[in-house]
Amino acid sequence: MSLKSAGRFLLIIAVTYTCVAAGFTAIELSKIEREAQFTRETQIPLILSQTRNAVKTERLASLIRALYLARDRRLERQVQLQIQALAQGFPFEAGANLVSGSKRVAVLAKEIAAARQQARDATKANVALFTYEERATTAYGEAIKIIDEMAKELSSDAALVADNITEEIQARAARIRYTLLLTVLVPGAFCVILLLLARRHLAKPIMDAIANLERINGSGNTLPAGSKPVITEIALIGDAVHAYGVTASELRRKNAVLQALAEEDPLTGLANRRTFETFLKSSLLDDSKPGGTALLLIDLDHFKSINDRHGHQVGDLCLQSLALMLTSLEHLSNPLAARYGGEEFVVVYDADSEEQALLDAEFLCRRIAALRVPIADGHFLTLTASIGVAFTMSSKDCQLSEAISRADKALYLAKSSGRNRAVCDKAIARGEIAGEKTTD
Ligand code: GH3
Ligand code: MG
Ligand code: MG
Repeated sequence: MSLKSAGRFLLIIAVTYTCVAAGFTAIELSKIEREAQFTRETQIPLILSQTRNAVKTERLASLIRALYLARDRRLERQVQLQIQALAQGFPFEAGANLVSGSKRVAVLAKEIAAARQQARDATKANVALFTYEERATTAYGEAIKIIDEMAKELSSDAALVADNITEEIQARAARIRYTLLLTVLVPGAFCVILLLLARRHLAKPIMDAIANLERINGSGNTLPAGSKPVITEIALIGDAVHAYGVTASELRRKNAVLQALAEEDPLTGLANRRTFETFLKSSLLDDSKPGGTALLLIDLDHFKSINDRHGHQVGDLCLQSLALMLTSLEHLSNPLAARYGGEEFVVVYDADSEEQALLDAEFLCRRIAALRVPIADGHFLTLTASIGVAFTMSSKDCQLSEAISRADKALYLAKSSGRNRAVCDKAIARGEIAGEKTTD
């Protein structure tokens, strides 16, 4: 999957989710709005009218009671008229039961009043007084019963309406709550999942690539190839880092070979002439050391004849044996042994004095003479060497070429004075060496 397509996929999901959540919330809110409008326009007026009717019913009950208890004709007449007026006051919308009930109560009130009047008239004759009184009581009882029914109906109607409204509002509020919860929780969960995925498929492969780069810069080795990242661009970075690592390690290897070729002598493994010259130059320039620099120029004696007698391979073996011996000069301070060219070697080190340098060179002569180079059939070859010594106290005293030339002159003298010996150039100057020339 590419980063671009992953981004597009996430954008589509986010837009879709936002639209669905916003749409759902808008629909719910508009439903609540309609519900509120409906409640205000129809339900609340209904409750109010029910309340008014309940008051009228209560009043009707009081008037009937007053009529029944009244013992005065005029009062009865007044109350009866009030009952009739009140009975007319129940609107048609209040319901058929209420309208018909109130009318029936008005009729019964009339009956009560009539029965009372008849009872009053009958008193004189003392006839059927009980019958008229009983008729009034029956009518009163029926009226009270009807009013009770009306009151019951009113209260249950009002309760029903109120209950319906409350239930509807509760349901809508619950739906809005769930919608809001979903609006917060789902994006939250989505973000967490997104972060985990980004950590696994984005951050980790990038960190791996960085670790790989650090490894390449340090040791030159790439990490072993792990699982391929899912995101295409990250996989490409990983591949590029891996390829860079392979190229870098190959370059390092070639560089090491080139450096060895530039600094070492391939036959003996010692430093070559270029390395020697650089070392000698810096040693001569170093005036911080207490003593000076000793240069020993070593030339094998009659080496041509060894080649001629035993062959070049044996000659090479002799050069390698001498080189091996020159790698163990621990008794000298800060030494460097190098192959100067052909069968000539040099040793540079820090020495205290010219006398000390000469003693060291003579010791080296003895060590070379003690070398046993194995040749065919268990035989050994011995070598000797002549050494020219040049000691320099400081950089002001001597340049590189001058030091080499002084050592070369001393070597020439060592050769001419009989070989297998060390000669110091200052000794020549002092006339301590005869300087006998030979024709070798
Ligand atoms: P001297 O005592 O005067 O130094 O005599 P020499 O024979 O050592 O002097 P010369 O310079 O005439 O000979 C040096 C010889 O070293 C000549 C050459 O064949 C040999 N040589 C130079 N480089 C190598 C090498 O790498 N391998 C071998 N086997 N021989 C080498
Ligand atoms: Mg030579
Ligand atoms: Mg030689």
